[in-house]
Amino acid sequence: MNKSDLRQWPQFSDAEILAQRSRKNKTTSNRPYAFHLEQECNASGEIIDVATLFLTNRECSFRCLMCDLWKNTLDHSVRSGEIPTQIRFALSQLSGSKSARQIKLYNSGNFFDRKAIPVQDYSAIAKLVNGYDRVIVENHPALCTDDCLRFRDFIAPAELEIAMGLETCHPELLQVLNKKMDLDDFDRACDFLHSHQIQSRAFILLKPPFLNENEGIDWALRSLDYALSRHVDCCSIIPTRRGNGMLELLEKQGDFSPPSGKSLETVLQQGLSRKRGRVFVDLWDAEQFFSCRTCRKARVERLHQMNLTQTRLPAIICGDCSE
Ligand code: SF4
Ligand SMILES: [Zn+2]
Repeated sequence: MNKSDLRQWPQFSDAEILAQRSRKNKTTSNRPYAFHLEQECNASGEIIDVATLFLTNRECSFRCLMCDLWKNTLDHSVRSGEIPTQIRFALSQLSGSKSARQIKLYNSGNFFDRKAIPVQDYSAIAKLVNGYDRVIVENHPALCTDDCLRFRDFIAPAELEIAMGLETCHPELLQVLNKKMDLDDFDRACDFLHSHQIQSRAFILLKPPFLNENEGIDWALRSLDYALSRHVDCCSIIPTRRGNGMLELLEKQGDFSPPSGKSLETVLQQGLSRKRGRVFVDLWDAEQFFSCRTCRKARVERLHQMNLTQTRLPAIICGDCSE
């Protein structure tokens, strides 16, 4: 039996997690809170432009322990028509959006949460995005319902891809994260999407609370294998970051520290070597994970190129650190 199996795992209520929050950022219901053009390696191995929109909508009703997405959400549902307005606005402002072959409509929550994205807007949204090869939205496994199929049909001929947070395949830790799902729920959602020709991607946390550095690497790789063995098309590894209040509290108690850059490098290298599906690491503000000022830029750039090419590139050698 693994040593971690003997641990006592804590449980946190929604109220305890909410109590650590700071204020939300100011957002408005007819504007996305951010948008940009990025590059990604698609399923055929081509590097393509992707228009990524962060839509503003009602806060997700789940209370995951590590989530800070609530910061850019509203306390009320948007009115019908406001989400299409946000998409139209972002695409009109995004120079180069015409070169994009895929579009991500990320909504700081779950696209198929009816209180977040009004069902009656699916058709108008589809008219704005059905010219892309693929439309990628995020959604909780428990909300993978027939609404996904309706939206899939609306956006045709564009393909639908649904990104779901697996977070970790560690069964006890998954409960600690207050995700309100277990691995069976994740498996069911994967089967449902696969059987309806909907692609999926999984978000996996690198070093969530209560794991040390080596356990963080080990469970990220196990989670990657878990997802890829369930028809998930690609995985995105998210280094667990401070920022939602709860993680700062756990850090004070000695139960959390962010992963090192070296762990990020290890997980991407080993993930790519599996050659079972695309593996990305999330590089937003990633220099913070590397302690050496001399090489951190080069290390993040290497990871970026590895994301794009899906190949392992030569390691960075730095005279100032042993990372
Ligand atoms: S389901 Fe997603 S958006 Fe909602 S609280 Fe959990 S991580 Fe955050
Ligand atoms: Zn260095």
